[in-house]
Amino acid sequence: MHYQSLVQLSEILRKRSISSVELTRLYLERSQTLNASLNCYISLDAERALAQAEAADSCIQSQSPTLTPLTGIPIAHKDIFCTRGLRTSCGSKMLDNFIAPYDAHVVEQLDRAGAVTLGKTNMDEFAMGSSSETSYYGPVHNPWDTRRVPGGSSGGSAAAVASDLAVAATGTDTGGSIRQPAALCGVTGLKPSYGRVSRYGMIAFASSLDQGGVIARSAQDAALLLQYMAGFDARDSTSVQKPVPDYLSELQKPLRGLCLGLPKECFHADLDSDVAAVIDQAVQILQRQGVVIREISLAHLHLAIPVYYVLATAECSSNLARYDGVRFGHRCAAPSDIGDLYCRSRAEGFGQEVKRRILMGTYTLSEGYHDAYYLKAQQLRRQIQQDYHSALDTLDGILTPTTPDTAFALGERIDDPVSMYFSDLFTVPANLTGLPALSVPAGFKEGLPIGMQIIADHFAEGLLLRLGHQFQCQTSWHSMKPPVDIASAPAQQT
Ligand code: GLN
Repeated sequence: MHYQSLVQLSEILRKRSISSVELTRLYLERSQTLNASLNCYISLDAERALAQAEAADSCIQSQSPTLTPLTGIPIAHKDIFCTRGLRTSCGSKMLDNFIAPYDAHVVEQLDRAGAVTLGKTNMDEFAMGSSSETSYYGPVHNPWDTRRVPGGSSGGSAAAVASDLAVAATGTDTGGSIRQPAALCGVTGLKPSYGRVSRYGMIAFASSLDQGGVIARSAQDAALLLQYMAGFDARDSTSVQKPVPDYLSELQKPLRGLCLGLPKECFHADLDSDVAAVIDQAVQILQRQGVVIREISLAHLHLAIPVYYVLATAECSSNLARYDGVRFGHRCAAPSDIGDLYCRSRAEGFGQEVKRRILMGTYTLSEGYHDAYYLKAQQLRRQIQQDYHSALDTLDGILTPTTPDTAFALGERIDDPVSMYFSDLFTVPANLTGLPALSVPAGFKEGLPIGMQIIADHFAEGLLLRLGHQFQCQTSWHSMKPPVDIASAPAQQT
């Protein structure tokens, strides 16, 4: 029963071959058992999940007009989305005891569609990282090899979906945090266009780059979730007032005649040769489906990582100022005065990577360095945007590997932030440009998944999902399962 897609489970629920309560119980039991070895969840909430499942069952039973394909489907939320009454930690000691008084827009929308929330998934602290190792709650393990990272920062969501601890999950992507873990865990991840999904109630990291999205088994499942998450929300001033198309019906259109660009800068000598071979094969599959492939050049691609790390750190230094032990967050014990309260609360509440970024961001925004770093990075962001926009003037999309290599070992890069930052080499440009991007499983190297990324024009999520779906109709990488098993999991920790 676990090994079904959202679309299949939705049909099974409608036929009442299983109830949502039964399905939810199966997922909860599996999650409770496997979490001891994978650490995908920070919180599981059986009571809330079963209450939602019961409500879903009565909707299904009465054929309620509010029924949607998501009714009764057990999903998980990244612990960056506020959930009323259920802890939202953002992977940080700073928010270890934070219970939001309201739901994020995304949570509200999926609740309204009848989805069941199993719990909140583990993540890099404040979404800063590419390995899910900076979490206060300990690292997430990759289900394909538990000695390796699942990617980050939405590593808990990706690992949970890959190992059937949730049918699908939400994630957020500031520089690759949906697509990179999706690629390293062998699942499908979509970062929508900036403005497509409301950021209301999504804890801010770098507001001009942050975007909520989906991690699912397939492009078809991702389309179903996006359908209910997307749309205008007046509570987010950057939310776009544009109708949401019917993503599911767009999936069926054939690919013949579409044209994708392959940036030659992505296929340089240091790209892992197996990753290059997998992308090459994927390209041939698309070509057989009638897609035209052209080599292109993105002249400023090599600047994306430095530009991103100047802008993202600058924005985070401002966004995280609110965690001072007074307005929000952990408060130190027995402060001697207000200065001591601020200093110790922040020193105790934030982990090392978050502190490093606040320091970098404060530095690049400071009076003497603002022009040299922050302004320069803004100018280069514009150049990168121009490269992508002019490429997309004559193309339907841009195809690249999602990551330069496969999942690395736990601990391998944690003390070498620059090598960690380079995991996002291919994903960061979609955030700098605000363009939508999809990662789909495209092959394996020594038992570890490899992802293919496609970037398209603003609000062309339907086209991306269609490319992903049609590719998945010809391949079976997305239906491969990692070797995790209830029997092999260590006893549940209490
Ligand atoms: N890995 C990138 C970073 O550390 C991106 C994180 C994200 O997308 N949230 O900033």
